[in-house]
Amino acid sequence: MKHKLNMISLGCAKALVDSEILLGGLKQNQVEITDTPEGADTVVVNTCGFLDLAREESIETILQAAELKKSGNIKQLVVMGCLSERYPDELAKEIPEIDRIFGSNNHREIVQFITGKEFSKDDPLFFRSLMTPRHYAYLKIAEGCDNGCSFCSIPLMRGLQKSRSIPAIVDEAQRLAAQGVRELLIIAQDTTSYGWDLDKKVYLNDLITALDKSLPDSVKWMRIHYAHPAHLSQRIIDAIAATDRVCNYLDIPIQHASDKILTSMRRGLGKEMIRERIQRLRDANPGIALRTTLIVGYPGESEDEFNELVDFVNEIRFDRLGVFTYSEEEDTLAAKLNDDVPAEVKDERKAIILDFQAEISMEKNQALIGQTLDVLVDEVGETVSVGRTEFDSPEVDQIVHIKGAVKKGEFCRVKIESANEFELKGISLG
Ligand code: SF4
Repeated sequence: MKHKLNMISLGCAKALVDSEILLGGLKQNQVEITDTPEGADTVVVNTCGFLDLAREESIETILQAAELKKSGNIKQLVVMGCLSERYPDELAKEIPEIDRIFGSNNHREIVQFITGKEFSKDDPLFFRSLMTPRHYAYLKIAEGCDNGCSFCSIPLMRGLQKSRSIPAIVDEAQRLAAQGVRELLIIAQDTTSYGWDLDKKVYLNDLITALDKSLPDSVKWMRIHYAHPAHLSQRIIDAIAATDRVCNYLDIPIQHASDKILTSMRRGLGKEMIRERIQRLRDANPGIALRTTLIVGYPGESEDEFNELVDFVNEIRFDRLGVFTYSEEEDTLAAKLNDDVPAEVKDERKAIILDFQAEISMEKNQALIGQTLDVLVDEVGETVSVGRTEFDSPEVDQIVHIKGAVKKGEFCRVKIESANEFELKGISLG
Protein backbone atom coordinates (compact mmCIF):
# COMPACT_ATOMS: atom_id res chain seq x y z
CA MET A 1 0.00 0.00 0.00
CA LYS A 2 1.19 3.50 -0.80
CA HIS A 3 2.49 5.71 1.99
CA LYS A 4 -0.09 8.48 2.59
CA LEU A 5 1.14 11.97 3.41
CA ASN A 6 -0.52 15.26 4.21
CA MET A 7 1.35 18.53 3.74
CA ILE A 8 0.42 21.69 5.65
CA SER A 9 2.16 24.70 4.12
CA LEU A 10 2.20 27.89 6.19
CA GLY A 11 3.73 31.30 5.57
CA CYS A 12 4.77 33.10 2.42
CA ALA A 13 4.86 32.18 -1.27
CA LYS A 14 8.56 31.31 -0.98
CA ALA A 15 7.71 28.64 1.59
CA LEU A 16 4.87 27.44 -0.66
CA VAL A 17 7.39 26.79 -3.43
CA ASP A 18 9.51 24.75 -0.97
CA SER A 19 6.42 22.67 -0.16
CA GLU A 20 5.69 22.18 -3.86
CA ILE A 21 9.25 20.95 -4.50
CA LEU A 22 8.93 18.47 -1.65
CA LEU A 23 5.55 17.22 -2.88
CA GLY A 24 7.05 16.72 -6.35
CA GLY A 25 9.87 14.62 -4.88
CA LEU A 26 7.48 12.59 -2.74
CA LYS A 27 5.06 11.90 -5.60
CA GLN A 28 7.97 10.80 -7.74
CA ASN A 29 8.66 8.24 -5.03
CA GLN A 30 5.09 6.90 -5.08
CA VAL A 31 3.85 8.70 -1.97
CA GLU A 32 0.12 9.44 -2.06
CA ILE A 33 -0.78 13.00 -1.04
CA THR A 34 -3.99 13.36 0.99
CA ASP A 35 -6.18 16.44 1.45
CA THR A 36 -6.58 16.10 5.21
CA PRO A 37 -4.20 15.06 8.01
CA GLU A 38 -6.60 12.50 9.48
CA GLY A 39 -5.73 9.05 8.21
CA ALA A 40 -2.37 10.06 6.70
CA ASP A 41 0.71 8.04 7.65
CA THR A 42 2.81 11.18 7.82
CA VAL A 43 2.01 14.84 8.31
CA VAL A 44 4.61 17.42 7.22
CA VAL A 45 4.19 20.94 8.61
CA ASN A 46 6.15 23.59 6.68
CA THR A 47 6.45 26.32 9.29
CA CYS A 48 6.82 30.09 9.11
CA GLY A 49 9.14 31.81 11.57
CA PHE A 50 8.65 35.46 10.66
CA LEU A 51 6.64 37.62 13.08
CA ASP A 52 5.01 36.46 16.28
CA LEU A 53 1.56 35.76 14.82
CA ALA A 54 3.00 33.44 12.17
CA ARG A 55 5.11 31.63 14.76
CA GLU A 56 2.04 31.11 16.94
CA GLU A 57 0.09 29.72 13.98
CA SER A 58 2.95 27.33 13.17
CA ILE A 59 3.18 26.05 16.75
CA GLU A 60 -0.59 25.70 16.99
CA THR A 61 -0.62 23.65 13.77
CA ILE A 62 2.21 21.37 14.98
CA LEU A 63 0.37 20.85 18.29
CA GLN A 64 -2.82 19.85 16.45
CA ALA A 65 -0.83 17.32 14.40
CA ALA A 66 0.86 16.12 17.62
CA GLU A 67 -2.60 15.42 19.06
CA LEU A 68 -3.40 13.29 15.99
CA LYS A 69 -0.22 11.33 16.57
CA LYS A 70 -1.02 10.81 20.25
CA SER A 71 -4.47 9.49 19.38
CA GLY A 72 -3.01 7.12 16.76
CA ASN A 73 -4.56 8.93 13.77
CA ILE A 74 -1.19 9.52 12.16
CA LYS A 75 2.07 7.61 12.53
CA GLN A 76 4.69 10.25 11.90
CA LEU A 77 5.09 14.01 12.32
CA VAL A 78 7.75 15.91 10.35
CA VAL A 79 8.42 19.62 10.74
CA MET A 80 10.35 21.78 8.26
CA GLY A 81 10.70 25.44 7.28
CA CYS A 82 11.83 28.73 8.77
CA LEU A 83 10.68 28.18 12.35
CA SER A 84 12.36 24.80 12.63
CA GLU A 85 15.49 26.17 10.98
CA ARG A 86 15.72 28.75 13.76
CA TYR A 87 14.46 26.93 16.83
CA PRO A 88 15.07 23.17 16.30
CA ASP A 89 16.14 22.43 19.86
CA GLU A 90 13.24 24.28 21.44
CA LEU A 91 10.71 22.52 19.17
CA ALA A 92 12.19 19.07 19.86
CA LYS A 93 12.11 19.72 23.60
CA GLU A 94 8.62 21.22 23.79
CA ILE A 95 6.86 18.89 21.32
CA PRO A 96 8.30 15.37 21.71
CA GLU A 97 5.73 13.94 19.25
CA ILE A 98 7.79 15.45 16.40
CA ASP A 99 9.73 12.64 14.71
CA ARG A 100 12.17 14.76 12.71
CA ILE A 101 12.96 18.43 12.26
CA PHE A 102 14.36 19.82 8.98
CA GLY A 103 15.17 23.27 7.57
CA SER A 104 13.60 24.92 4.51
CA ASN A 105 15.93 23.46 1.94
CA ASN A 106 16.43 19.87 3.12
CA HIS A 107 14.17 18.38 0.43
CA ARG A 108 16.53 15.51 -0.34
CA GLU A 109 16.89 14.55 3.32
CA ILE A 110 13.12 14.73 3.95
CA VAL A 111 12.31 12.51 0.95
CA GLN A 112 14.98 10.08 2.10
CA PHE A 113 13.63 10.06 5.65
CA ILE A 114 10.05 9.41 4.54
CA THR A 115 10.62 7.01 1.63
CA GLY A 116 14.14 5.71 2.16
CA LYS A 117 14.82 6.65 -1.48
CA GLU A 118 17.10 9.12 -3.22
CA PHE A 119 15.85 12.30 -4.82
CA SER A 120 17.57 15.22 -6.47
CA LYS A 121 16.00 18.55 -7.32
CA ASP A 122 18.27 18.63 -10.38
CA ASP A 123 16.88 15.37 -11.74
CA PRO A 124 15.42 16.27 -15.18
CA LEU A 125 12.51 13.92 -14.53
CA PHE A 126 11.58 15.68 -11.34
CA PHE A 127 9.09 18.48 -11.20
CA ARG A 128 7.45 20.33 -8.34
CA SER A 129 3.79 19.68 -7.65
CA LEU A 130 1.78 22.91 -7.67
CA MET A 131 -0.43 23.79 -4.72
CA THR A 132 -1.85 26.84 -6.50
CA PRO A 133 -4.61 26.61 -9.15
CA ARG A 134 -2.94 25.32 -12.30
CA HIS A 135 -3.19 28.65 -14.16
CA TYR A 136 -0.73 30.51 -11.95
CA ALA A 137 2.51 29.62 -10.23
CA TYR A 138 5.24 31.25 -8.21
CA LEU A 139 8.71 31.33 -9.72
CA LYS A 140 11.39 31.59 -7.05
CA ILE A 141 14.47 33.20 -8.58
CA ALA A 142 16.71 33.42 -5.50
CA GLU A 143 16.88 32.25 -1.93
CA GLY A 144 18.09 34.26 1.07
CA CYS A 145 18.90 37.94 1.41
CA ASP A 146 22.00 40.13 1.80
CA ASN A 147 20.29 43.25 3.03
CA GLY A 148 20.22 42.97 6.79
CA CYS A 149 17.26 45.26 7.45
CA SER A 150 17.33 45.90 11.18
CA PHE A 151 13.89 44.45 11.95
CA CYS A 152 14.10 41.31 9.84
CA SER A 153 15.09 37.81 10.89
CA ILE A 154 14.77 36.27 7.42
CA PRO A 155 18.52 36.38 6.62
CA LEU A 156 19.07 34.54 9.94
CA MET A 157 16.74 31.78 8.76
CA ARG A 158 17.37 31.71 5.03
CA GLY A 159 20.99 32.86 4.83
CA LEU A 160 22.65 35.12 2.28
CA GLN A 161 21.27 35.54 -1.24
CA LYS A 162 21.78 32.64 -3.62
CA SER A 163 20.40 33.44 -7.06
CA ARG A 164 19.46 30.68 -9.48
CA SER A 165 20.95 30.84 -12.95
CA ILE A 166 18.91 32.30 -15.81
CA PRO A 167 18.86 28.97 -17.75
CA ALA A 168 17.55 27.10 -14.66
CA ILE A 169 14.78 29.64 -14.13
CA VAL A 170 13.85 29.74 -17.82
CA ASP A 171 13.70 25.94 -17.89
CA GLU A 172 11.35 25.87 -14.90
CA ALA A 173 9.16 28.64 -16.37
CA GLN A 174 8.88 26.72 -19.67
CA ARG A 175 7.82 23.57 -17.83
CA LEU A 176 5.23 25.55 -15.89
CA ALA A 177 3.96 27.02 -19.16
CA ALA A 178 3.69 23.52 -20.63
CA GLN A 179 1.52 22.54 -17.66
CA GLY A 180 -0.96 25.32 -18.42
CA VAL A 181 0.33 28.20 -16.28
CA ARG A 182 -0.86 31.56 -17.65
CA GLU A 183 0.61 33.84 -14.97
CA LEU A 184 4.05 33.63 -13.37
CA LEU A 185 4.64 35.37 -10.06
CA ILE A 186 8.32 36.19 -9.73
CA ILE A 187 9.49 36.04 -6.12
CA ALA A 188 12.64 36.19 -3.97
CA GLN A 189 13.39 37.99 -0.71
CA ASP A 190 14.56 40.92 -2.84
CA THR A 191 13.92 40.47 -6.56
CA THR A 192 15.65 43.71 -7.58
CA SER A 193 19.01 42.44 -6.33
CA TYR A 194 18.64 39.20 -8.30
CA GLY A 195 21.85 37.96 -9.91
CA TRP A 196 24.40 40.10 -8.07
CA ASP A 197 25.85 37.08 -6.32
CA LEU A 198 26.36 34.90 -9.42
CA ASP A 199 29.90 34.33 -10.71
CA LYS A 200 28.97 36.16 -13.88
CA LYS A 201 26.72 38.95 -12.61
CA VAL A 202 23.31 39.34 -14.19
CA TYR A 203 20.37 41.58 -13.32
CA LEU A 204 16.63 41.25 -13.03
CA ASN A 205 16.22 42.98 -16.40
CA ASP A 206 18.37 40.26 -18.05
CA LEU A 207 16.11 37.62 -16.55
CA ILE A 208 12.93 39.43 -17.65
CA THR A 209 14.27 39.63 -21.22
CA ALA A 210 15.34 35.96 -21.24
CA LEU A 211 11.96 34.80 -19.93
CA ASP A 212 10.10 36.96 -22.41
CA LYS A 213 12.10 35.51 -25.33
CA SER A 214 11.60 31.91 -24.34
CA LEU A 215 8.04 31.65 -23.07
CA PRO A 216 5.05 30.81 -25.25
CA ASP A 217 2.29 33.39 -25.74
CA SER A 218 0.03 31.39 -23.43
CA VAL A 219 1.92 32.91 -20.47
CA LYS A 220 0.30 36.28 -20.70
CA TRP A 221 1.31 37.75 -17.37
CA MET A 222 4.55 37.92 -15.39
CA ARG A 223 4.23 39.74 -12.08
CA ILE A 224 7.14 41.00 -9.99
CA HIS A 225 7.00 40.88 -6.20
CA TYR A 226 9.32 42.10 -3.43
CA ALA A 227 11.15 44.78 -5.40
CA HIS A 228 13.38 46.52 -2.87
CA PRO A 229 13.20 50.23 -3.81
CA ALA A 230 16.92 50.78 -3.07
CA HIS A 231 17.85 48.34 -5.85
CA LEU A 232 15.25 49.36 -8.41
CA SER A 233 17.57 50.52 -11.19
CA GLN A 234 16.54 52.36 -14.34
CA ARG A 235 17.34 49.28 -16.45
CA ILE A 236 14.85 47.24 -14.41
CA ILE A 237 12.24 50.00 -14.75
CA ASP A 238 12.87 50.09 -18.51
CA ALA A 239 12.61 46.29 -18.82
CA ILE A 240 9.23 46.36 -17.06
CA ALA A 241 8.09 49.05 -19.50
CA ALA A 242 9.46 47.29 -22.58
CA THR A 243 8.04 43.84 -21.84
CA ASP A 244 4.32 43.59 -22.58
CA ARG A 245 3.68 40.53 -20.51
CA VAL A 246 5.20 42.00 -17.36
CA CYS A 247 2.09 43.24 -15.58
CA ASN A 248 1.78 46.98 -15.13
CA TYR A 249 2.13 46.27 -11.44
CA LEU A 250 4.96 46.30 -8.94
CA ASP A 251 5.13 45.12 -5.36
CA ILE A 252 7.60 47.57 -3.85
CA PRO A 253 7.77 47.35 -0.05
CA ILE A 254 8.92 50.72 1.31
CA GLN A 255 8.37 49.91 5.03
CA HIS A 256 8.42 53.58 6.14
CA ALA A 257 8.81 57.14 4.89
CA SER A 258 10.60 58.94 7.71
CA ASP A 259 14.34 59.33 7.08
CA LYS A 260 15.07 58.79 10.76
CA ILE A 261 13.19 55.47 10.81
CA LEU A 262 14.44 54.34 7.38
CA THR A 263 18.04 54.91 8.51
CA SER A 264 17.49 52.96 11.70
CA MET A 265 15.83 50.21 9.63
CA ARG A 266 18.95 50.13 7.40
CA ARG A 267 16.86 50.28 4.27
CA GLY A 268 19.59 51.88 2.20
CA LEU A 269 17.53 54.86 1.00
CA GLY A 270 15.51 57.76 2.35
CA LYS A 271 12.14 59.32 1.58
CA GLU A 272 13.35 61.49 -1.29
CA MET A 273 14.90 58.52 -3.08
CA ILE A 274 11.76 56.45 -2.62
CA ARG A 275 9.73 59.33 -4.07
CA GLU A 276 12.14 59.65 -7.00
CA ARG A 277 12.08 55.90 -7.80
CA ILE A 278 8.29 55.88 -7.76
CA GLN A 279 8.20 58.90 -10.07
CA ARG A 280 10.57 57.18 -12.52
CA LEU A 281 8.46 54.03 -12.38
CA ARG A 282 5.30 55.99 -13.08
CA ASP A 283 6.95 58.04 -15.86
CA ALA A 284 8.08 54.89 -17.68
CA ASN A 285 4.93 52.87 -16.94
CA PRO A 286 1.86 55.13 -17.01
CA GLY A 287 -0.99 53.65 -14.96
CA ILE A 288 1.26 51.19 -13.11
CA ALA A 289 -0.38 49.77 -9.96
CA LEU A 290 1.93 49.91 -6.96
CA ARG A 291 1.62 47.64 -4.00
CA THR A 292 3.57 48.39 -0.83
CA THR A 293 3.93 47.18 2.73
CA LEU A 294 4.64 49.30 5.80
CA ILE A 295 5.69 48.76 9.39
CA VAL A 296 4.19 51.01 12.07
CA GLY A 297 5.31 51.27 15.68
CA TYR A 298 9.01 50.67 14.94
CA PRO A 299 11.20 51.65 17.95
CA GLY A 300 11.48 55.44 18.16
CA GLU A 301 8.50 56.12 15.88
CA SER A 302 7.04 59.25 17.49
CA GLU A 303 3.83 61.01 16.40
CA ASP A 304 5.96 63.15 14.06
CA GLU A 305 7.48 60.20 12.21
CA PHE A 306 4.14 58.46 12.03
CA ASN A 307 2.49 61.59 10.61
CA GLU A 308 5.25 61.80 8.02
CA LEU A 309 4.36 58.28 6.94
CA VAL A 310 0.65 59.13 6.76
CA ASP A 311 1.43 62.21 4.64
CA PHE A 312 3.56 60.09 2.30
CA VAL A 313 0.83 57.48 1.87
CA ASN A 314 -1.62 60.26 1.04
CA GLU A 315 0.84 61.86 -1.36
CA ILE A 316 1.87 58.73 -3.27
CA ARG A 317 -1.57 57.10 -3.27
CA PHE A 318 -0.42 53.48 -3.55
CA ASP A 319 -2.91 51.21 -5.25
CA ARG A 320 -2.55 48.34 -2.78
CA LEU A 321 -1.11 48.57 0.69
CA GLY A 322 -0.51 46.27 3.66
CA VAL A 323 0.52 47.34 7.17
CA PHE A 324 2.32 45.32 9.84
CA THR A 325 2.71 46.41 13.44
CA TYR A 326 6.36 46.17 14.51
CA SER A 327 7.19 42.90 16.22
CA GLU A 328 10.56 42.42 17.88
CA GLU A 329 12.53 39.59 16.29
CA GLU A 330 15.17 37.88 18.39
CA ASP A 331 18.84 38.49 17.41
CA THR A 332 18.03 41.31 14.97
CA LEU A 333 19.62 44.78 15.23
CA ALA A 334 16.27 46.37 16.05
CA ALA A 335 15.87 44.01 19.01
CA LYS A 336 18.64 46.00 20.68
CA LEU A 337 16.48 49.12 20.51
CA ASN A 338 13.83 49.97 23.03
CA ASP A 339 10.48 48.65 21.71
CA ASP A 340 8.87 51.83 23.02
CA VAL A 341 5.60 52.16 21.11
CA PRO A 342 2.78 50.60 23.16
CA ALA A 343 0.84 47.78 21.47
CA GLU A 344 -2.41 49.76 21.44
CA VAL A 345 -0.69 52.72 19.76
CA LYS A 346 0.74 50.37 17.12
CA ASP A 347 -2.75 49.00 16.44
CA GLU A 348 -4.22 52.49 16.31
CA ARG A 349 -1.57 53.63 13.82
CA LYS A 350 -2.20 50.62 11.65
CA ALA A 351 -5.95 51.36 11.67
CA ILE A 352 -5.36 55.04 10.77
CA ILE A 353 -3.26 54.13 7.71
CA LEU A 354 -5.71 51.46 6.59
CA ASP A 355 -8.58 53.99 6.86
CA PHE A 356 -6.74 56.46 4.65
CA GLN A 357 -5.89 53.68 2.22
CA ALA A 358 -9.51 52.52 2.07
CA GLU A 359 -10.52 56.02 0.92
CA ILE A 360 -7.77 56.10 -1.70
CA SER A 361 -8.67 52.63 -2.90
CA MET A 362 -12.38 53.53 -3.09
CA GLU A 363 -11.62 56.56 -5.27
CA LYS A 364 -9.32 54.56 -7.56
CA ASN A 365 -11.85 51.74 -7.90
CA GLN A 366 -14.77 54.09 -8.60
CA ALA A 367 -12.75 55.61 -11.43
CA LEU A 368 -12.72 52.20 -13.14
CA ILE A 369 -16.51 52.00 -13.46
CA GLY A 370 -17.46 51.88 -17.11
CA GLN A 371 -14.02 50.65 -18.23
CA THR A 372 -13.42 47.23 -19.80
CA LEU A 373 -10.48 45.30 -18.31
CA ASP A 374 -8.67 42.02 -18.99
CA VAL A 375 -9.39 39.62 -16.15
CA LEU A 376 -7.90 36.21 -15.36
CA VAL A 377 -10.59 33.92 -13.95
CA ASP A 378 -9.55 32.24 -10.67
CA GLU A 379 -12.84 30.62 -9.63
CA VAL A 380 -16.03 29.82 -11.50
CA GLY A 381 -19.35 29.96 -9.61
CA GLU A 382 -22.93 29.17 -10.64
CA THR A 383 -23.99 32.80 -10.90
CA VAL A 384 -20.87 34.84 -10.12
CA SER A 385 -17.22 33.99 -10.81
CA VAL A 386 -14.07 35.57 -9.40
CA GLY A 387 -11.01 36.86 -11.18
CA ARG A 388 -8.23 39.44 -11.09
CA THR A 389 -6.97 42.27 -13.26
CA GLU A 390 -3.29 42.71 -14.07
CA PHE A 391 -3.23 45.17 -11.18
CA ASP A 392 -3.88 42.45 -8.60
CA SER A 393 -1.87 39.52 -7.33
CA PRO A 394 -3.56 36.39 -5.95
CA GLU A 395 -4.28 36.14 -2.21
CA VAL A 396 -3.05 39.65 -1.32
CA ASP A 397 -4.86 42.08 -3.65
CA GLN A 398 -8.33 42.84 -4.98
CA ILE A 399 -10.77 40.60 -6.81
CA VAL A 400 -13.31 41.12 -9.55
CA HIS A 401 -16.76 39.52 -9.29
CA ILE A 402 -17.80 38.53 -12.79
CA LYS A 403 -21.31 37.89 -14.08
CA GLY A 404 -21.72 35.81 -17.23
CA ALA A 405 -20.11 32.69 -18.67
CA VAL A 406 -16.36 32.41 -18.09
CA LYS A 407 -13.79 29.59 -17.85
CA LYS A 408 -11.43 29.00 -14.93
CA GLY A 409 -7.84 29.80 -15.83
CA GLU A 410 -8.80 31.76 -18.96
CA PHE A 411 -8.66 35.48 -19.65
CA CYS A 412 -11.83 37.43 -20.40
CA ARG A 413 -12.86 41.04 -20.94
CA VAL A 414 -14.97 42.43 -18.11
CA LYS A 415 -16.95 45.69 -18.16
CA ILE A 416 -16.80 47.16 -14.65
CA GLU A 417 -20.25 48.14 -13.38
CA SER A 418 -19.67 48.90 -9.69
CA ALA A 419 -16.90 49.03 -7.10
CA ASN A 420 -16.22 49.28 -3.39
CA GLU A 421 -12.91 49.78 -1.55
CA PHE A 422 -11.51 46.34 -2.30
CA GLU A 423 -13.63 44.73 -5.00
CA LEU A 424 -14.84 45.39 -8.49
CA LYS A 425 -18.01 43.98 -10.03
CA GLY A 426 -18.63 43.59 -13.72
CA ILE A 427 -20.04 41.62 -16.61
CA SER A 428 -18.07 39.36 -18.90
CA LEU A 429 -17.96 40.46 -22.54
CA GLY A 430 -16.36 37.13 -23.46
S1 SF4 B 1 15.09 42.96 2.12
FE1 SF4 B 1 15.13 43.39 4.33
S2 SF4 B 1 13.02 42.87 4.95
FE2 SF4 B 1 13.32 41.86 2.99
S3 SF4 B 1 14.09 39.81 3.49
FE3 SF4 B 1 15.89 41.10 3.17
S4 SF4 B 1 16.45 41.80 5.22
FE4 SF4 B 1 14.33 41.04 5.33
